[in-house]
Amino acid sequence: MGWVKFLGTAGARFVVARQLRFSAGTWLELSGTQLLLDPGPGTLLRCRKVRPPLEPRELSGIILSHKHLDHSTDVNIMIETMADGGLKRRGVLLAPQDALEGDDPVVLRYVRSFLERIEAFQDGKVYEIGKAKIKPVPHNHGQVETYGVIIEAEEGRLGFVVDTRFFPELPEIYAGCRLLVINTVLREWNPDVDHLSFPEALEIVKAVRPNLAVLTHFGMTMLRDKPWELAAEASEKLGLKVVAAADGMTVEATDWA
Ligand SMILES: [Zn+2]
Repeated sequence: MGWVKFLGTAGARFVVARQLRFSAGTWLELSGTQLLLDPGPGTLLRCRKVRPPLEPRELSGIILSHKHLDHSTDVNIMIETMADGGLKRRGVLLAPQDALEGDDPVVLRYVRSFLERIEAFQDGKVYEIGKAKIKPVPHNHGQVETYGVIIEAEEGRLGFVVDTRFFPELPEIYAGCRLLVINTVLREWNPDVDHLSFPEALEIVKAVRPNLAVLTHFGMTMLRDKPWELAAEASEKLGLKVVAAADGMTVEATDWA
């Protein structure tokens, strides 16, 4: 059965800069396929240091939600490592167009040749990696092209609400997700920041009613207020399972069945 491992749970610049939490990505094994979402700074190191260590050569694909550094720093080394040091043409990269082309692409051209397939996200398309089906969800995250993802696998429908401002259609788009992971940077709503706040994350959880909601990608204001306590209070209040991710935490398909 599948699982999801949070190699890092840091969000926003200061928590990442001070490494108050690790800023590595999220590793998934679904339908027997290994995937990596958002390889931020330190992802390769964290893969090798967790127990048991994760083997990047067993990855089938890397999903980049957007090109901000806390999501993309390790994308090049993870592509090379997935392709066994570039000796093989192996693996898939799904990424927004502006991470691949334009003024400031983050995926180096020379590592692209190591990949079996590169796809630039298009709204409405579904991408297959192994037996997992991945649907991009356009988010609203300032100037940078950003996609959340809905993954359909043997383990059910999983939603990853990555960096975004709240918009009214969000809960409806992620309807039916049994596991819902939400990047919750802010403790309180801040109109000047293109990120979800804790009250907005709960609004989404309340509407979607997943079997398990995991909050992650915490900024300073969330960390100060102890996300694990906030999640426990929210679980009680909503009558739904809400947990705050910790570095290295794994959730298994039985947790969201
Ligand atoms: Zn971002």
